[in-house]
Amino acid sequence: MVEIRKDYFLDVFSIVLSQGMPKEQFKEGKCVLCPGNEELTHPADLVIVKKGETLLKQSDTEGDYVKNWVVRVFPNKFPFVSPNAPPSYGESPHYSEPAVGYHYTLVATPKHDLTFQKIDTEQWTNILASLQDKIRWLYTQRGVGYVSAYVDYCKDSTSLSSHPNIQILTTPKVPPIIEKEAETVQTSMNELGVCPMCRVISSESSGPRQVLSTDSFIAFAPWVSRFPYEFWIYPKKHQTSLLKLSQKEMTDLALMLRSTLGGMSKSLGSADFGMIFHNSSEKKTTKQIHWHIEVFPGVHQLSSFEIGTGIFVNMVPPEIAGQQLGSSSRKELAQLVGIS
Ligand SMILES: [Zn+2]
Ligand SMILES: [Zn+2]
Repeated sequence: MVEIRKDYFLDVFSIVLSQGMPKEQFKEGKCVLCPGNEELTHPADLVIVKKGETLLKQSDTEGDYVKNWVVRVFPNKFPFVSPNAPPSYGESPHYSEPAVGYHYTLVATPKHDLTFQKIDTEQWTNILASLQDKIRWLYTQRGVGYVSAYVDYCKDSTSLSSHPNIQILTTPKVPPIIEKEAETVQTSMNELGVCPMCRVISSESSGPRQVLSTDSFIAFAPWVSRFPYEFWIYPKKHQTSLLKLSQKEMTDLALMLRSTLGGMSKSLGSADFGMIFHNSSEKKTTKQIHWHIEVFPGVHQLSSFEIGTGIFVNMVPPEIAGQQLGSSSRKELAQLVGIS
């Protein structure tokens, strides 16, 4: 069984699976994401290979796996959603629909032990370009209303997350949080003629919560940070999706990610974090948002109060987070710019 269920009253959804939790990060003692173990995964439909200075797009075929890759994207063996989800529809109060969709793993580096924070800017541009490519393709597929891309990284975990990877998951509808953001943006655009996030960006610029500013991006700890040291990365100009990035902006975002994730891990002494891309849906009929990345340092378990009320308790004021992460991220940036 794989279906999406909606709450009796609220816009709250669960993907309900009967397959149990995946435990096959290591198969026969081998990491399935590592080079040399490609045949333990499904064939990859996007493999980036570097030949001299040129990047080539290739794909595996059954029994013939591309070697010496820099990024590899393949269908997850334990998908949360499936293109062949059995039809299962339920009416209110037991509303359900088939969990139709695609679930991919993007391996962010061939090096198992390289933490996300040490991935260099060149590799980050490879990752971002591969992500653009895959997301664009997914929107051409049947039953895809929204594509989410996220990271759950825990260095010492024995689960899938210890080898740097990005999960790409589609849902038939736009998730409630993105939908809510889009409604707010649309209302403000209609009534005031401005994007509310563009206003937030100008009010957080050079303020106490700013973490880092580059040519095209700004990172800041949001006014209502749910988690300690949470920070968001926004394009400074109004832009609706990662898919709209120019090559120059992508290089700048790579620099921003390398600097802030590097600064975060040095400042907090931990490589663990979660991260999600909030893009607008590419479906023609949907409302648009000002796209961004949300980063949650550490590994989080919600308290019952947080789950039961939706109110978060955060022991680190975002002003402190902005200052602390800012100082270490600026050092990283200075080193990177100094070297290159
Ligand atoms: Zn590995
Ligand atoms: Zn905007």
